[in-house]
Amino acid sequence: MRKIHHLRFIGHIKLLSGTRIGGSDDILQIGGTDLTCIKDPVTGKPYIPGSSLKGRMRSALERHHGRFGKNPQEPCGCARLDCPVCRVFGPHKKTDHNLGPSRILVRDAPLLEGGQTELKTESIIQRQANTAQHPRTVERVAPGSKFALEIGLQVFDIDADFTYRYADDREFRGWEALREVVYHGLDLVEDCGIGSGTSKGYGSVEITVERIVRSERRRGAGRPRDAV
Ligand SMILES: [Zn+2]
Repeated sequence: MRKIHHLRFIGHIKLLSGTRIGGSDDILQIGGTDLTCIKDPVTGKPYIPGSSLKGRMRSALERHHGRFGKNPQEPCGCARLDCPVCRVFGPHKKTDHNLGPSRILVRDAPLLEGGQTELKTESIIQRQANTAQHPRTVERVAPGSKFALEIGLQVFDIDADFTYRYADDREFRGWEALREVVYHGLDLVEDCGIGSGTSKGYGSVEITVERIVRSERRRGAGRPRDAV
């Protein structure tokens, strides 16, 4: 297996609604503990962890294609050569397969603009009594904030026969098919949002890919003399 290209998708993510990506997202904290959103320990500014965006792309593509693991809570681990999820994201929990390494690498998205946070008080409705209990305060990043998007995509020679059809009548092949899987995943994230509380309208995003850069191997120029 030989690596042919390394592509970088460069762009930005704009928040269209308040967004909350927390470290302990779904753990209910009672007693007025604020649920804070995740921040860079150095700058103190919010950011979008690459793992959050990647996880959401993966699960959205799995839902779209009806691909799940042994039970529907588990990611796909089918490792079939025609499975776009396993090829791009890697088969879940499977080490013995012929797909090669995961193709996608989603970088943490640092803040470009905005980044103010707002506090919102939420009530948890007790369904049986139909009463609101334990109000909690959650921190969200304000709409309009912008984050830098960078996704790396490795292309191998074994991808030459991989095909994918999305948003176009044309079936793409090879690196273009992998690119379409990434575009599709990003479009699905625009539909479903990121972070927690998306059913309440949190985490709505607009994702723009400005350009795709192909990293060239250093040949001649820029290479130290006598380098191997
Ligand atoms: Zn699969």
